[in-house]
Amino acid sequence: MAASSKTARGTGKRAAPGAAKGAFQGATHRVENQPPPLADYNVFETDRALVEALAREGADFGRKEGLKRARALGARVGSVEVQDWARLANRHAPELLTHDRYGNRLDRIEYHPAWHYLMALGVGHAVHALPWRAKQRGAHAVKAALAFLMNQGENGVCCPMAMTFAAVPALANEPALAEEWTPRILSTEYDARFIPARDKLGAVFGMAMTEKQGGSDVRANSTRARPAAGEGEGIFLLTGHKWFCSAPMSDAFLTLAQGPGGLTCFLVPRFRPDGTQNRFFLQRLKDKLGNRSNASAEIEYDDTWARRVGPEGRGVHTIIQMVHHTRLDASVSAAAVMRAAVVQAMHHTRHRAAFGAMLADHALMQNVLADLALESEAATAMVMRLARGYDDALADPAAEPMVRLATAIAKFWVCKRAPTVVAEAMECLGGGGYIEDGPMPRLYREAPVNGIWEGTGNVICLDILRTIARAPDALAAFAGELKAAAGGDRRLDTYVGEIEKAQKSNALDESQARVIVERLALAWQAALLVQHAPHPVADAFCASRLTGTGGRTLGTLSAGMDVQAIIARAWSE
Ligand SMILES: Cc1cc2nc3c(=O)[nH]c(=O)nc-3n(C[C@H](O)[C@H](O)[C@H](O)COP(=O)(O)OP(=O)(O)OC[C@H]3O[C@@H](n4cnc5c(N)ncnc54)[C@H](O)[C@@H]3O)c2cc1C
Repeated sequence: MAASSKTARGTGKRAAPGAAKGAFQGATHRVENQPPPLADYNVFETDRALVEALAREGADFGRKEGLKRARALGARVGSVEVQDWARLANRHAPELLTHDRYGNRLDRIEYHPAWHYLMALGVGHAVHALPWRAKQRGAHAVKAALAFLMNQGENGVCCPMAMTFAAVPALANEPALAEEWTPRILSTEYDARFIPARDKLGAVFGMAMTEKQGGSDVRANSTRARPAAGEGEGIFLLTGHKWFCSAPMSDAFLTLAQGPGGLTCFLVPRFRPDGTQNRFFLQRLKDKLGNRSNASAEIEYDDTWARRVGPEGRGVHTIIQMVHHTRLDASVSAAAVMRAAVVQAMHHTRHRAAFGAMLADHALMQNVLADLALESEAATAMVMRLARGYDDALADPAAEPMVRLATAIAKFWVCKRAPTVVAEAMECLGGGGYIEDGPMPRLYREAPVNGIWEGTGNVICLDILRTIARAPDALAAFAGELKAAAGGDRRLDTYVGEIEKAQKSNALDESQARVIVERLALAWQAALLVQHAPHPVADAFCASRLTGTGGRTLGTLSAGMDVQAIIARAWSE
């Protein structure tokens, strides 16, 4: 369908569908010129950029199989039922139950049932574990597409799903533990019962690193670990605190503590092997800006039973495997938040008229919508290509340094773009976009969080500088990604040439880290679009992002761009 709407063009005389005839309506007015709810649509099939990216990056999985899985989840995520679960799970935020009526400690969270339905939906579709279950090339790309869809249903549940997914490579550092816990993670049965994991149908993991005095600076951790007398090798008791611990009803957590041999990674289960509740004390829940369906707690350890993961003193090295994989998910999540917001903007503007035409038919609105669509498609292409890098690295470990570098670049950039995109998309809905009845406020509150957890912007950029300095091969491999598009667009070739020149002069200047990363990210997105997107998309992206003709707000594409084609690709109803 073309960018303009077929309905009620310019009339503004559109009664909201579903308004029951004969239902009470004030005598003063009819409800007119309001869009129909965007419901019961397939979130995957309506996203051409994602469909193409999955077919491309997940081809090794079996093209049909990947598409089938994504189509199935896309239909569920777009359903009225799942949309309502998302609303309910966020409206009725989780509650902390510290004690029972007699004063005994409980340390439990009570969730609205909708939270559990959403968890069951994601786990049932293996959003938390597909690559480890399938053990097949392309599974990371398929999983990223599934996470992209699930995040458009509800973001809160995607946090425990990401942490559970990411725990597996960290657990691999301790084969006996991996043997015990990984099969539980691989299960597609979500089991919300608060009982020992060995008696459950499946398990979920969390991660507890951040302390009051140090979040990014994890080496400042003050939690102590002492060997548990008489309990055998690798068993420790932890005493200390964690300032942020999301999804605290997970079955186990990877955490850091100072052991006799230095900072070490540990697995803390909610139940000890004898079946009693572990000493895992929930002090309070964070009153968060967004991501409200998901509980994030402050916790205290007091002789808390734990098992060592990986060698003593190598805690950061061990848990970084988990962090690395959660960064992939954070990037996917931010891209999905953008897509969800852009779809709302597209839908709304095609169904609302002002000044004699549908909003989507006004030239300036088209510039805004097209610019939003570019940002969203570039993010989608980037995170899907990144996910394939994880498949590549499983097949060939030599690819890993480049994948780490690419992960950090994508994490920084996509997470930074998300709040800007969501805010602009919200404005397309006018005042209604700001009201809690619809999904926009939830997306808006969600948008910044992926930039904060799993590595804040500065920390990520400094990581990237370190990688560039220490692993020049990773940068060379990344440059190969850009070179793959060489000759496809003159502006991109020039831009990449300038990066290379600048790189030689100030690669190690810490103050310039964001400048460097931004350029690498833009060049990578442009390279992907030049190779894989239709000409109007790649052309407008290169013109606006690489040559300085685009402005500082969205909706500033220069004249002559084929905005109609860009919009039509982004959304058709
Ligand atoms: C909703 C939510 C859920 C969370 N869930 C979890 C969880 O489950 N488990 C967990 O472990 N943590 C969790 N976190 C914590 C999160 O990972 C940390 O907040 C994050 O790592 C930053 O740490 P910090 O808050 O201590 O900030 P700081 O480390 O104090 O950083 C503050 C600012 O300073 C910047 N900065 C730091 N060092 C430098 C430097 N050298 N140069 C320049 N700038 C610098 C940072 O980029 C940041 O902008 C959660 C956070 C949120 C918001």
